[in-house]
Amino acid sequence: SKGIMDGKRGLIMGVANKQSIAWGIAQACHEQGAEMAFSYQGEALGKRVLPLAESIGCDTVLECDVTNAESIDALFAALEKKWGKLDFVVHAIGFSDKNELRGRYVDTSAENFRMTMDISVYSFTAIAQRAEKMMPDGGSLLTLTYYGAEMVMPHYNVMGIAKAGLEASVKYMAMDLGPKNIRVNALSAGPIKTLAASGIGDFRYILKWNELNSPLRRNVSTADVGKSAMYLLSDLSSGVTGENLHVDAGYHVVGMKAEDAPDI
Ligand code: NAD
Repeated sequence: SKGIMDGKRGLIMGVANKQSIAWGIAQACHEQGAEMAFSYQGEALGKRVLPLAESIGCDTVLECDVTNAESIDALFAALEKKWGKLDFVVHAIGFSDKNELRGRYVDTSAENFRMTMDISVYSFTAIAQRAEKMMPDGGSLLTLTYYGAEMVMPHYNVMGIAKAGLEASVKYMAMDLGPKNIRVNALSAGPIKTLAASGIGDFRYILKWNELNSPLRRNVSTADVGKSAMYLLSDLSSGVTGENLHVDAGYHVVGMKAEDAPDI
């Protein structure tokens, strides 16, 4: 059958397990006919990612720690050798010390601030630098963000500051890479129970709040995110760059939900 990603080759970064947002996107890419390579962080995760990749017919599974420039160079050297060209990259990577994803933002440490920015913000730019060289006919770069960049969310703290930086970097890179027809977009996902999210304080409460207060009155799944990612990764969004697409059951438009108001 004909898929909207037929003939496209891309790199998926950030699969840790079946719950990962990157895995939801990879499954949708597969259904739409894309060919993919995967990168993972560390041997322990590699053992989980390899069988997942193989289950959708992908045998290129490479290690890459984004805090290490040589590691990123080695990943792209391997892709250059395998394919020469690349059509898309999915960056679904973020990290912060979980001890700083609770309590007050104002108490955040300098050391964790720098690490969070390096892994969660700079890595997307570092990857774009390498991807640009492999996209002579244009391409699509996609990163994952969260509403905590735009508004204060409980416990998101330093990650909120990082996502604000990430969203700004999407706009700057959209401008820089636009002349080469390389589009750069973000997808702002609603809360989803993943490994990374388990580090955020009171995450179950945040999930429940979104379920009760979003326009669709539910949470989103990685399959919801995967389907919307097909728009940003495929030619369906050929005129779209620098965008931040909210896949959050509409939560970002809510100022206040109508309830049975108490008598006041
Ligand atoms: P996840 O734990 O499945 O994925 C996070 C990934 O980041 C993991 O695969 C991990 O290995 C990788 N990573 C961390 N440090 C790395 C490093 N130094 N080098 C290479 N990889 C590294 O969790 P997820 O929720 O799927 O997260 C994916 C992205 O989605 C993140 O950017 C996250 O902030 C974002 N996001 C998540 C939610 C949510 O509620 N889960 C909502 C909006 C946005």
